Amino acid sequence: MDYTDIKNVDDKDKSMYLKLVPGKYVLRLLGKPEDYKHHWENQKKYACLGMDGCPHCKKTDTDGDGSNRPRTSYVTNVFVKLAPGDDPKDIDPQTKLRKVPELMLLEKGRQIFGTFGAWARAREINPGGEKGPDWQLIVEKTGPEVRNVRYQLFPLDIAPLTNEEKKILKAQNLYDVKKIVSDRIEKYKKELDGESGPGLAVDDTDIEGLDDISLDDVDGILDEIDGDSNIDLEF
Ligand SMILES: [Zn+2]
Repeated sequence: MDYTDIKNVDDKDKSMYLKLVPGKYVLRLLGKPEDYKHHWENQKKYACLGMDGCPHCKKTDTDGDGSNRPRTSYVTNVFVKLAPGDDPKDIDPQTKLRKVPELMLLEKGRQIFGTFGAWARAREINPGGEKGPDWQLIVEKTGPEVRNVRYQLFPLDIAPLTNEEKKILKAQNLYDVKKIVSDRIEKYKKELDGESGPGLAVDDTDIEGLDDISLDDVDGILDEIDGDSNIDLEF
């Protein structure tokens, strides 16, 4: 290797996952989401392997109280076009957005992705395709607990990809969310051999207890809608 390959300390901490902090975001969905089921135990997230092989689902059966039903999370590519703490010099004075957006992964539950799904259903447009909108997301902390977070999420204007954004997508492909999710489940299956696995990354801005919201499976909705979602192949 070369010395130039040694990354800054800062680079090491930089995650491809968007970590939501209080403040205002503008996001543009890209491509399709991928979903997976998981359990929360002791503030850790464990992938759900289905009723047959899943120790967490079995616990529910024993208790019979349904308290450990799996929840669904979704992962998708997004352009982060504005985030709290952005340096004003990185902001375009006209659009009030970043001059250069960042490609990241958004992983959240139904309280956020349910809104994307509702929009997709109402408009019959894939929000991650060429005709998708920008989304404004406001994150508020409402108390000291991890779960004390309120989201305000609504669509802004339809936001066709700019030349700058297309250039970014040419240079840096979308993250393969299907593979990310399947790798994660495989890893967890292996860890299960050692009794209770270490679990998956804790997502401490996710809100617990919202699994009862009856929304159709967002992934299924997006799959049904038009074919312009494979935007990574279009440019
Ligand atoms: Zn399970």
